[in-house]
Amino acid sequence: MKEKKSTPEKDGSGARKETLEKITEQEREEYYRERRRQRKLLRQRQVRRRKMMILGATAVISLVVVVGAVRGITGFVAGRISEADKAETANQEQAGNEAQQQENAQADLLAQADLLAAQYDYDAAVALLEGSEGYQENTQFQEAVQGYQETKATCQSWPLEEVTHVFYHTLIKDTSKAFDGDYKEADYNQVMTTIDEFNKITQTMYDRGYVMVSIYDMATANEDGTMTPGEILLPPGKIPFVLSQDDCCYYHYMDGDGYASKLIVDEEGKVRNEYIEDDGTVSVGDYDVVPLIDRFVEEHPDFSYRGAKGIVALTGYNGILGYRTDISYQTRPDDLDQDKVEWLDNHPDFDLETEREGAKKVAEAMKAEGWLFASHTWGHQNVGQIDLDHLKTDTGKFQENVDPLIGGTDIIIFAFGTDLTAQEDYSGDKFEYLKSAGYDYYCNVDSSQYFVQIRDRYFRQGRRNLDGYRMYYNPELLEDLFVASEVFDPARPTPVPPMS
Ligand SMILES: [Zn+2]
Repeated sequence: MKEKKSTPEKDGSGARKETLEKITEQEREEYYRERRRQRKLLRQRQVRRRKMMILGATAVISLVVVVGAVRGITGFVAGRISEADKAETANQEQAGNEAQQQENAQADLLAQADLLAAQYDYDAAVALLEGSEGYQENTQFQEAVQGYQETKATCQSWPLEEVTHVFYHTLIKDTSKAFDGDYKEADYNQVMTTIDEFNKITQTMYDRGYVMVSIYDMATANEDGTMTPGEILLPPGKIPFVLSQDDCCYYHYMDGDGYASKLIVDEEGKVRNEYIEDDGTVSVGDYDVVPLIDRFVEEHPDFSYRGAKGIVALTGYNGILGYRTDISYQTRPDDLDQDKVEWLDNHPDFDLETEREGAKKVAEAMKAEGWLFASHTWGHQNVGQIDLDHLKTDTGKFQENVDPLIGGTDIIIFAFGTDLTAQEDYSGDKFEYLKSAGYDYYCNVDSSQYFVQIRDRYFRQGRRNLDGYRMYYNPELLEDLFVASEVFDPARPTPVPPMS
């Protein structure tokens, strides 16, 4: 708590101070005694209530409630104390503040530990409280630690080969614009998901016990290039899954089609979207996977395993995250794409460094929130079809234009859902090249429930598209996740066009 250093006159409590001066010394003593007694009672109630909640917190969801309650009570008490303090003498104020600060610090620590435990990191939660000052005398902390350890004892190691991986493209914010009958409608109807569908899927998966895990929890890449299987420990009823989003670049071709235009960091430091309205004004909100998942985890911390979020796969040719970060926007080669030329004509104030700084700021905020980045190849290449030289040129462009903005990555998510090879195991020139370029984690698209390979030198995982095509044609393949008929957006034109 930060004490406000304002005089009574300035904060409007001058009248009360005057009244106090008129009463006798004895009355004043009594007044302060009563205030202290009330504060003590309030604290006791607070501690009792917190203890009861912790004892009653048998499930993770209850722990989440405690986090919220502790924060709420802390804020409430802080407000009350602050009011009382204004009428006290300087000495009393200081003594009271110190006691209060200590109590607030303890409540904060407990809230932090509860959050760690809610996200299944029981060891960290225990270590945080056990390592705190005065732990030996703090029965409240000791009870909390016991609770964490009891939940940890119920956890089981999830079989890594049975971890599913789902992915989305950019979400449709305005269906009337995406499904407006133009030449892009069929494509959007097949491979995109609407915000409404996404929110329903997320809620259903959460209700069924799904928990987002990091690909790095599944396997560790060692310095010598070998891979070591990881471990995912979850209580009964929880099911791990990996989330990813492809092409989070807000391509020019999507302009005016009902999608967000970029990701930004707002004044609170939260990642949000910008959306350009019909009249050209810009709305800020949660219109795509990243901010929607961030908001969902704020409300449901137990949807994330130890803070993990998803993997965002980026190409580079139109820049990343809605920023026009590619060098071609500055060099303007003769064969520059028409949509880039048009965009540049409409943005005469374009500055490559400003764009790159903007993208970097968002990428850093995302990483701090648990997001990972992957290469989706610079030019959305079909790695199964292109030759080695082409792959090298393309990878070089990614390394120059994207890696510096995201801090590099060792994950590659292949475009077009293709894969390096149709063989059971990776081998050959392209694999050796990508491995030498630093890629250890490889993802393709595979409609089976799970496909995981943890080999000596790579990790490979199949991904499932949760889009219009899959929901319309293969709802049975999604039954472990949600009921497609309950999710499918009625705004979609039907039939969803078949793949040609
Ligand atoms: Zn793609």
